[in-house]
Amino acid sequence: SIRTRFAPSPTGMFHVGNARSLLLNWVVARQSGGTMVLRIEDTDAVRSRPEWTEGILQAMAWLGVDSGEYEGPYSQTDYLDKHTEAAQRLVKEGLAYYCDCAREQVQQRRENPNLGYDGFCRDRSLEAGPSRALRFRVPEGGPTVVEDRIRGRVEFPHDALEDFVVARADGSPLFVLANVVDDVEMGITHAIRGEEHLSNTPKQQLLWEALGHTPPVWAHAPVLVNEKRQKLSKRRDKVAMESYQAEGFLPETMVNYLMLLGWSPGNDREIMPFEEMVPLFDLADVNSSPAFFDEKKLRAFNGEYIRALSTEEFMKRCTPYLRAESVPWSAADYDEAVFAAIAPLAQSRIAVLSEIVPNVDFLFLDEPVFDDKSWSKAMKPEVAEPMLTAALERFSDPVPAWEAEPLKGALEEAGAAQGLKLGKAQAPVRVAVTGRTVGLPLFESLELLGRERTLERLRAALA
Ligand code: GLU
Repeated sequence: SIRTRFAPSPTGMFHVGNARSLLLNWVVARQSGGTMVLRIEDTDAVRSRPEWTEGILQAMAWLGVDSGEYEGPYSQTDYLDKHTEAAQRLVKEGLAYYCDCAREQVQQRRENPNLGYDGFCRDRSLEAGPSRALRFRVPEGGPTVVEDRIRGRVEFPHDALEDFVVARADGSPLFVLANVVDDVEMGITHAIRGEEHLSNTPKQQLLWEALGHTPPVWAHAPVLVNEKRQKLSKRRDKVAMESYQAEGFLPETMVNYLMLLGWSPGNDREIMPFEEMVPLFDLADVNSSPAFFDEKKLRAFNGEYIRALSTEEFMKRCTPYLRAESVPWSAADYDEAVFAAIAPLAQSRIAVLSEIVPNVDFLFLDEPVFDDKSWSKAMKPEVAEPMLTAALERFSDPVPAWEAEPLKGALEEAGAAQGLKLGKAQAPVRVAVTGRTVGLPLFESLELLGRERTLERLRAALA
């Protein structure tokens, strides 16, 4: 049966590229009733940290891939003996040899340094020893042909493939070897990973064969690029899954969107839960050209997912944001019932959950938080003063029923008296009451805020 693996290195934040590899391995295992193995590739002792491993597990669980969904986690370091054994076997069978050439020596011998190692030690039959690396003997002839499920047939001529190092002078195995030995050991049938590993693949395929096994199905998913068609980078682009989570993207949005990078379920459908994608997915349908990670589109998707939640669920998902330490109101002023009343309005408008805070803060604060830009835009004295005065009067006498519809009628009247259409008339009122030019529907907001507080804020803005 099919065995895929997700093999992240715990050397940094779990990023969107990791998530995409994870999902591809998950979907392929799931659709065949197979197994996905989780292997933490932690052999780089300097860069690997336990907290990054924690981050991997946390992000996976957030995306819905919890421990019931995979076998493991295994740690690559637990298999060090196997890696060393494999290296020894290669030596014994004449498939690898020790080499004591320093880089500068190789460079001096080579006219074209791009050609890599020149095979100087191939037939020197060196024993193991200090400062002797172990090199794999790339067979004469070639090419090595990789049949990639996504990219098709890729040929690697052997004259461009140097005798590559499989173990360092200190005996520690290199990634190319450790990764293959683990895949063999774990019975992996499908190696699905990012395109950046394609150049390792001919080497790894040769190692699979040298170790006496049939190579797995390879699939290299296309690179992810930003709007400038640059490969996503953690220095330049927002790639950490953590930041998407913090901003209030839903995990189901992320899963849905990441699955669409280079693949489509067909029939112009885009919004589709993972479970429905599982039977439709085929690695062979994944496009090999770079995939644009479009944050705008992701936001639009997230808005749709937010709208599709029940109000109750929406409120539940907003709760961590409303209860966060960073909110501008004091915890004692937060009123769940008021939030419940405004939640449906917010749900129909926000794109990410964190936007809930600036949309409702005016309800829980003693005074609104004024944003300067909104204030200078809406509070030009010659318009704002007469308009706010008119609104105050109209809301006071005769008092309209304090509900959205009559309030709207009242403000329309007050605006008309100033020669202003409703849109213009409500701008200074909105800023006076909520602090901002954009936000939830004004009259529902006034209704919820109540008459006293509304009038108080209009007066304060005039003062
Ligand atoms: N540990 C490798 C990485 O994180 C994965 C290699 C693989 O999937 O074969 O890039």
